[in-house]
Amino acid sequence: MTGPTGTEPTVAHPDLPEIGILIIGGGIVGSCLAGFLAKEGLDVAVVDSGWAGGTTANAGSLHVQMQSIFLQRFPHLVHRLEASLGLYKSAAAYWSDFQKELGADCEVKVNGGLMIAENQEQLDFLAKKAKREAELGLEVDVLDRASLDRIAPYLGPAVIGAELCAHEGKVNPLLANKAIRAWGKTHGAVRLAEERVLQLTADKAGFRATTARGQIKAGKVVLAAGYESMALAAQLGVHVPTRADPLHMNITEGTAPFITHLVQHANRPITLKQLGSGQAVIGGGWPAELGAPGRIPVVKLSSMVGNLSLAQHIIPQLSPLRVIRTWAGINTGVDGCGVIGAAPSVSGLYFAIPGDAGYTLGPLTARLAADCIQGRAPGEDISSCDPDRFTAI
Ligand SMILES: Cc1cc2nc3c(=O)[nH]c(=O)nc-3n(C[C@H](O)[C@H](O)[C@H](O)COP(=O)(O)OP(=O)(O)OC[C@H]3O[C@@H](n4cnc5c(N)ncnc54)[C@H](O)[C@@H]3O)c2cc1C
Repeated sequence: MTGPTGTEPTVAHPDLPEIGILIIGGGIVGSCLAGFLAKEGLDVAVVDSGWAGGTTANAGSLHVQMQSIFLQRFPHLVHRLEASLGLYKSAAAYWSDFQKELGADCEVKVNGGLMIAENQEQLDFLAKKAKREAELGLEVDVLDRASLDRIAPYLGPAVIGAELCAHEGKVNPLLANKAIRAWGKTHGAVRLAEERVLQLTADKAGFRATTARGQIKAGKVVLAAGYESMALAAQLGVHVPTRADPLHMNITEGTAPFITHLVQHANRPITLKQLGSGQAVIGGGWPAELGAPGRIPVVKLSSMVGNLSLAQHIIPQLSPLRVIRTWAGINTGVDGCGVIGAAPSVSGLYFAIPGDAGYTLGPLTARLAADCIQGRAPGEDISSCDPDRFTAI
């Protein structure tokens, strides 16, 4: 008997022959979900192929207001994004509680986010956006330059005003990712690293996930594999249209803290903030390339130059800082909303895929997925994230 590539034996996995719940994908969502379920006493393991998912590449911005880059790229999906705005607000707030649950300082700060404008047209766009977001329950305000001088004097002379969203903030992902893994382990979650699930099958007895080391039998399976969830779900005949978005990031050397907000732009791609170390983390949607083979994301020089020039333009005080690292990662997009809950046609199969800005949504998405798996009513309205919405497509 051979496995999916025709070479590996379908022997039982030496370390994990059988498990109650197998989570495929150990990014922010899979790792949090494993911890939540293990804490409830469930028999749970998470398996991750171990190369950089979005979680290890992400910038730690806690996003809530609608990002201008999403509105520009996907105007046909704005209504979907609007449907999940309440979840973003809850998810950003949940990070503070979750940090307490982890018992670790992950530098969670909710000081508000500024989306800046450089001309009247951009300010009018922000005013219209803010009006809609306020109707949808967000605490937002449009500030003129005089008001900005009082709360964000670090913004350069090109900025004439901004939208302030009170719910936004930041977290240090390096600290958070480490704390989440340690917390899951404390509660008994098993983690298999650097192992890819190559084949996933289901029958009346449950699921079989095959890696290069053998087969894992599972009573339930959760797909938390980011954009790669689509290919795994397809093996079970379920359609979930995830999209891979390769993105660029930069980080500078440290300096004295002076940027207090998460900063974005009304019509150009940028997110910018300062970590506790004083380093400025600069990204916001500049593209990377999906290099072959292995689809490893590769940094583009043009993105590095464009992203950093824009950052210096908005905050001139950044200009003397040296960039110490750039990297590229793969973000997952769906249709403006996440995919959370039971699969429509395969009993025991669940999805835990956040929407855009999935690090913000990660812990809450995991907590809601745990509710679905445990048969509890989720504490939030997740109707916009129903996996069944793709059935007819
Ligand atoms: C450069 C960049 C910056 C970002 N910045 C932010 C930000 O500031 N704020 C924010 O909110 N969001 C940000 N994001 C988005 C955020 O990082 C992602 O949305 C988030 O990581 C999604 O988490 P996840 O757990 O769903 O998926 P991922 O983090 O992508 O994890 C999925 C995991 O599944 C594993 N996997 C896939 N297929 C298999 C398989 N067959 N077998 C085993 N394992 C498998 C992968 O190895 C991966 O580790 C950023 C993304 C990128 C790329």
